[in-house]
Amino acid sequence: MSINYLQEEQLNVVLVTGGSGFIGSNFIRAILSKHTQTTVINIDKLTYAGNTANTEDIEKAFGDRYIFVKGDITDKEFVKSIFSRNNNTNPRLQRQPPISVVVNFAAESHVDRSIIDSSPFIKTNVTGTQILGDLSKQYNITRFLQISTDEVYGDASPNKNFDEPSALQPSSPYAASKAAADLLLLSYFRTYHLPVIITRSSNNFGPYQFPEKLIPLIITKAISGENLPIYGAGNQSRDWIYVQDNCEALTQILTDGTNGNIYNISGNHELSNLDMVLTICQILSDKTGIPVDQYYNLIKHVKDRPGHDIRYSCVNNKIMSEIGWQPKKNFTERLEYTVDWYLSSNEWIQRVIGANSEKYYS
Ligand code: NAD
Repeated sequence: MSINYLQEEQLNVVLVTGGSGFIGSNFIRAILSKHTQTTVINIDKLTYAGNTANTEDIEKAFGDRYIFVKGDITDKEFVKSIFSRNNNTNPRLQRQPPISVVVNFAAESHVDRSIIDSSPFIKTNVTGTQILGDLSKQYNITRFLQISTDEVYGDASPNKNFDEPSALQPSSPYAASKAAADLLLLSYFRTYHLPVIITRSSNNFGPYQFPEKLIPLIITKAISGENLPIYGAGNQSRDWIYVQDNCEALTQILTDGTNGNIYNISGNHELSNLDMVLTICQILSDKTGIPVDQYYNLIKHVKDRPGHDIRYSCVNNKIMSEIGWQPKKNFTERLEYTVDWYLSSNEWIQRVIGANSEKYYS
């Protein structure tokens, strides 16, 4: 299979979906910094997880090269108006050349919420991806980068590490919806030659992550002296990657990847959930001067999540050999930086937790 490198001019206009969320907003910073001729159009529904607070610095730093349009990827007429510019009165959009590349981050992304109600997961993660795929085909885009997850492989037994041809065995409705989207897009590659590339990364951490996921949840709850909930004994093991490290991998795959391929992206740093929480407590104690036992005393083991995967593990062999990317070895430094970021971002925390999600967050 031939490699399909993208040239600078093929990156003139990049449509990013879900760019007001955690990884999407970090990715927009990365791509606009790396490709100085690129304009990003970000379409985002601004669900509880998406917030313009995540992109304010991008608007200031990149000016006209960043265009935000609020909208839903499951609304075909809306998405079509972004591609075609017909019926679209936004003058900034009208001035842009055609969209050449699509990067799809938009998703319902929280496993726990998918267990409560899978409907929005199927709608956004599957139907939304189908709509983007159909329009990308119709408008002849040059590349479609689908942001998937290592959770599609399901549970990894202690000595098992998944590579890209591994079977899909998703355990949660969230993971199943992501696997469905992957399979649909691979069928579009085969049937219509849609230039699809799929990435499957492990757990991201870093600035701008909504405080329902483990790391920001623990930091924000510890800051306000609330209980630190841990599912069961906390012996579930996760691989962690710093979000900007992942975004570097994504920008490299976008230009240097091969259509029809899947690339795993792992941080190569595995930790049990309990060890992660203990580490965060220690970092917080070092930074605030509060004795670490005071943080430890907040830890509360709660009933385990149904269907909870005990371990995720995917390997980087393919991305290392074909793309030349490998994860940085600075996990502790990046975790300390992340804790610092949340300690100094109280205004952001208050803005994103907001009225809609307060009940769930509690
Ligand atoms: P996130 O929940 O922080 O952001 C998702 C964004 O999508 C939000 O801004 C939300 O408003 C937007 N969105 C949701 N439904 C939409 C719709 N119908 N139309 C338009 N926008 C919509 O998620 P994240 O953690 O940034 O994850 C981004 C992508 O990466 C997801 O596809 C997720 O499956 C994948 N991923 C995440 C991780 C992780 O550790 N966070 C790991 C692997 C893969």
